[in-house]
Amino acid sequence: MLPMAKEYDVIVIGAGPGGMTAALYASRSNLSVLMLDRGIYGGQMNNTAAIENYPGFKSIMGPELGQQMYDGATQFGAEYAYANVTGIRLDGTKRIVDTDEGTYTAKAVIVATGADHRKLGIPGEEEYGGRGVSYCAVCDGAFFKNREVVVVGGGDSAIEEGIYLANLASKVTIVHRRDQLRAQKILQDRAFANDKIEFVWNAQTEEIVGDDMKVTGVVYKDKISGETHTLPASGVFIYVGITPLTESFHDVGILDDGGWIPTDETMATKVPGIFAIGDVRAKKLRQITTAVGEGGQAGQSVFDYIQSLP
Ligand code: FAD
Repeated sequence: MLPMAKEYDVIVIGAGPGGMTAALYASRSNLSVLMLDRGIYGGQMNNTAAIENYPGFKSIMGPELGQQMYDGATQFGAEYAYANVTGIRLDGTKRIVDTDEGTYTAKAVIVATGADHRKLGIPGEEEYGGRGVSYCAVCDGAFFKNREVVVVGGGDSAIEEGIYLANLASKVTIVHRRDQLRAQKILQDRAFANDKIEFVWNAQTEEIVGDDMKVTGVVYKDKISGETHTLPASGVFIYVGITPLTESFHDVGILDDGGWIPTDETMATKVPGIFAIGDVRAKKLRQITTAVGEGGQAGQSVFDYIQSLP
């Protein structure tokens, strides 16, 4: 446990790729930095098998990339502690971070707590996670080249990712629980015009089945006829929503209506001395590369911010 009285220049909340990069940049600028995480450093990369779209590596296992980022992030003195952060308070120019383990103080805070994909909560979903069940087409689509895949959902993400997958897969079946899509009209038009994309309407996804090693199909119930069918598939991409992990930051005035954190291009939120990066930001592409880029920017921005303090 770290001494509570110590005041840091920067506290980074969340030690995923974004947070670790911010810690690297800030500590290399000679700022004192503390990273706090309620899990293992590495963030979502710990749940990722092969990563094939992080430059510098043809393919690397998620936990290994997490370890390498951690080794890099701590080489200039950034510290790391386990803590579940419950809130941020403002006290003049001080930023106070409350956690289950105690209270920490800094001149600036970087929020890098990431986001969580909503689950269907059906049999097979957890069992085949990383073995055919995915929540990220850009991450995993290439593993399903020339194979049949199913996309579950009907919003913008489901349709966008379905179109993306159609460039790789032999066939994409979009399974939706209603009789029309919620996605923007332009996306709908593109999907309807794509020969490789088929739709199953009024379908309640009930189970993901496999051969114990990998996914082989998706079971759904036709809500009109009540009949149950199985679609053969090697991959199932689930897009039923994504939630920002910002439950601890409701009181500090940095969230938008959806619970995401908008920032300017320096990663500054609307509250001075609080920055946000990675999946938790209000943005479009949630990837390791984008989290890392934003982390570098925030690490530099906190330096500039602290220089400007009286
Ligand atoms: P995260 O990685 O989400 O890290 C956030 C950290 O904050 C976590 O460690 C969490 O424990 C911590 N935290 C949250 N709340 C609190 C709190 N209150 N107190 C303390 N700590 C807290 N991207 C790619 O580029 N390529 C891929 O191949 C790829 N594959 C993926 C596969 C899967 C299965 C998943 C789930 C994601 C994948 N992604 C991939 C997406 C990528 O992992 C994320 O975009 C990236 O990790 C986001 O980084 P981040 O730093 O914003 O947050």
